[in-house]
Amino acid sequence: MKYKLIKIKKESNGVVWLTFDGPKMDFKPGQSLILKYEFKNDSGNETTTENKVVNRMYSFASSPTRENIELCVKKVEGGLVSCALQEIIPGTELGLKGPIGKFYFDEENDKDLVMIGCGCGIVPFLSILDYLNEKKLDIPVKIFISNKTQCDIIHKNSLETLSAENNKVKILFNLTREPEPVSCCNKMGRIDKGYLESNLDNVSGKTFFICGTDSFAESMKKILLEMNVKESQIKISAYG
Ligand SMILES: Cc1cc2nc3c(=O)[nH]c(=O)nc-3n(C[C@H](O)[C@H](O)[C@H](O)COP(=O)(O)OP(=O)(O)OC[C@H]3O[C@@H](n4cnc5c(N)ncnc54)[C@H](O)[C@@H]3O)c2cc1C
Repeated sequence: MKYKLIKIKKESNGVVWLTFDGPKMDFKPGQSLILKYEFKNDSGNETTTENKVVNRMYSFASSPTRENIELCVKKVEGGLVSCALQEIIPGTELGLKGPIGKFYFDEENDKDLVMIGCGCGIVPFLSILDYLNEKKLDIPVKIFISNKTQCDIIHKNSLETLSAENNKVKILFNLTREPEPVSCCNKMGRIDKGYLESNLDNVSGKTFFICGTDSFAESMKKILLEMNVKESQIKISAYG
């Protein structure tokens, strides 16, 4: 299905926010979609005029209750689609297909949320937070966000404001490659067992969302299992 890009917002750190207009997609907060990017055939080969379509998955960045679909894409150096999306202009039509995945907030069963993400792994959490806010759901949320440097933090100011204004939402930042301590940062270095334990009073009754690279997701899951979190309490979305 084709969706029209109606708004583009850029952050300084190679992050672009894209808002699309089109048919309503019935998704759950935290899920993803497939974006079909069409590269024009400029090979000079006259025997084919076919364009090349490349598919990539992106998480919904806002609540399903919103009128428009919003995505948040971080530029990957040398990456085909994430680099092309940096240059895209309003009015462009793109194919979006979804929703996809079992990684989502389940309103019936998830009553106490812990989210652990790195880099653009924060994006599905933004959708969940937006949904909780839209529906005025009084659910405690603790979010651990890991980045290399403070410049890499997506949506930093809004997250800090949210954490300061809403006593049900607590956001903790850790930075792995800042040479000097940074004021917004709760930990210099990687998320480890001690850090999670010292910031979580207990693990029972909680649902844990992990989102980030494969290696990040694997190591976070291992720590949670060591902390006696049950597999059934853990939801994972991992990529590359
Ligand atoms: C469920 C899910 C949700 C996701 N959600 C988001 C999201 O919300 N936001 C977001 O920004 N991303 C998200 N991603 C990641 C996204 O799908 C893309 O993988 C990402 O944007 C990179 O795509 P790309 O086309 O730019 O990079 P690619 O072209 O696929 O390249 C990726 C990497 O491989 C390297 N590479 C490419 N070709 C070669 C080659 N021939 N040899 C060696 N190295 C090569 C590139 O340099 C780059 O480092 C998600 C992924 C999944 C699976």
